[in-house]
Amino acid sequence: MKGLVWFRRDLRLRDNPALSAACQECREIVPFFVFDEPLLRSQVFGSACVGFMLGCLEELRRSLAEHGLALAWRMGEPVESVMQAAADLDANAVYWNRDYEPAALERDRLVQQRLAQQGHRVRTFKDHVVFEAEEVRGLTGDPFQRYSAYRDRWWVKWRAAAPPLLPVPPFPPTDRVSPSDSRAWPSTTDLGYQTVPMWIEPGEQAAHARLQWFLRGPIHAYVTGRNLPAIDGTSKLSPHLRFGTISARTLVHAALKALSKGGRVSRADVFTWIDEVVWREFFQQVLTSFPRVAEGPFKQKPGLPAPRSAGPERDRLFAAWCQGRTGYPIVDAGMRQLNQTGWMHNRVRMVVASFLVKDLRIDWQSGERYFMARLVDGDLAANNGNWQWCASTGTDAMQGYRIFNPKIQSEKFDADGEYLRRYVPELNNVPTKWIHEPHLMPHEEQVLAGCRIGSEYPSPIVDHRQARQEYLDLGQQQVKP
Ligand SMILES: Cc1cc2nc3c(=O)[nH]c(=O)nc-3n(C[C@H](O)[C@H](O)[C@H](O)COP(=O)(O)OP(=O)(O)OC[C@H]3O[C@@H](n4cnc5c(N)ncnc54)[C@H](O)[C@@H]3O)c2cc1C
Repeated sequence: MKGLVWFRRDLRLRDNPALSAACQECREIVPFFVFDEPLLRSQVFGSACVGFMLGCLEELRRSLAEHGLALAWRMGEPVESVMQAAADLDANAVYWNRDYEPAALERDRLVQQRLAQQGHRVRTFKDHVVFEAEEVRGLTGDPFQRYSAYRDRWWVKWRAAAPPLLPVPPFPPTDRVSPSDSRAWPSTTDLGYQTVPMWIEPGEQAAHARLQWFLRGPIHAYVTGRNLPAIDGTSKLSPHLRFGTISARTLVHAALKALSKGGRVSRADVFTWIDEVVWREFFQQVLTSFPRVAEGPFKQKPGLPAPRSAGPERDRLFAAWCQGRTGYPIVDAGMRQLNQTGWMHNRVRMVVASFLVKDLRIDWQSGERYFMARLVDGDLAANNGNWQWCASTGTDAMQGYRIFNPKIQSEKFDADGEYLRRYVPELNNVPTKWIHEPHLMPHEEQVLAGCRIGSEYPSPIVDHRQARQEYLDLGQQQVKP
């Protein structure tokens, strides 16, 4: 039997269920990738994300070549591309790992139907998550809406049936290479994107190295370190999970193994980190169970003010937020980190999201789209789930009246202003005393620091206390009969 293995969000050889099954069941396999032309043209994702994907594909291609296999690829509409490839390569079966985004589910449903009509066998596998949505359900069988309840059930499942890890499979012998393999691989510019410097190494090897680095160091202080944007206190594995250069199963097994070895690893640090991986699964099951969240709020909660109306004022505020020129250093540092690197620290993501939705009263979907078009780890389930959490519209969301105070967040998590200065160079010479609220700095000190407010650095675009009060008052008006 000849099997076409369609790689999508699983750009790796290790612990890859679709690949392993194909190698076991087929005498010949053809690894295959589709550059989804309509999706690439839509520019939903940004250059960082596309560049990272290309790097991962490049490594996958090299790894497959070491096993005598060439990665076939096509550029086009995915359903047509797979149908064509299956026909051209005379594949008896097509293998892939499941994707749970609404558009991907529809694509897969269509291609599966058409492949079956043409007599090709289809085999699909769980891979992107440790447990699929329907595997973690409450007693009623309904999907969980509270993270804590989901997490408890998730752990019950794990203890009962932790999924094993699969090794790199033994590949069936191959003696021929598909003609498409010799074609030049598209570059980021060929795909219509810019080449951006990559601060995180793409590919499966790098993902494993990054995990080992994290388990040797930062995980030991994760409970506190994860909140400090100035340090490398988190794993930065999110882009790898996004493209599946490492599996979520591997992360959980590796962290628990590190704990079982004893030594200085603390339970609290390890479990707090695994709980973040479970948050990822939680949002994935929210998207799978309630696909409408991709289009709008999970709940229209009473007491949430309507966003500011469209118009020049809204556009001015949104542009300032996007450019990192709000006059709030922690917001500006976060947005500039995102614009420059395609990544932003989680604590700061929460601060900038709260600021957009609650201080500026701009619809969260604008923020969600902006993040998606910049993030190297842009992922519909995680991005949407977190935006809805911050906007208080999600399943298990931040209370509507909770509004992050940017100054307090900044003082608490970047006391010396190291992160602020790294991304907002105008603040380099501002004394730490004023770093969190530079607009309060006396004029002479502004001149001395080379940071005159209103010229070198913007004055705050809104007054946080006032904006907060307005938000709460508008909310109150909403709930009044
Ligand atoms: C407004 C907003 C938007 C976000 N958009 C995305 C996104 O598009 N893609 C994305 O992967 N994450 C998103 N996150 C979640 C989180 O910020 C990142 O997953 C995290 O910063 C990645 O860094 P890390 O790999 O070092 O995480 P670590 O702290 O090392 O955590 C390990 C893994 O757990 C998962 N994880 C951690 N925190 C969360 C979380 N809050 N929600 C879901 N999964 C989590 C990630 O897969 C992460 O790689 C968003 C958060 C916010 C507040």
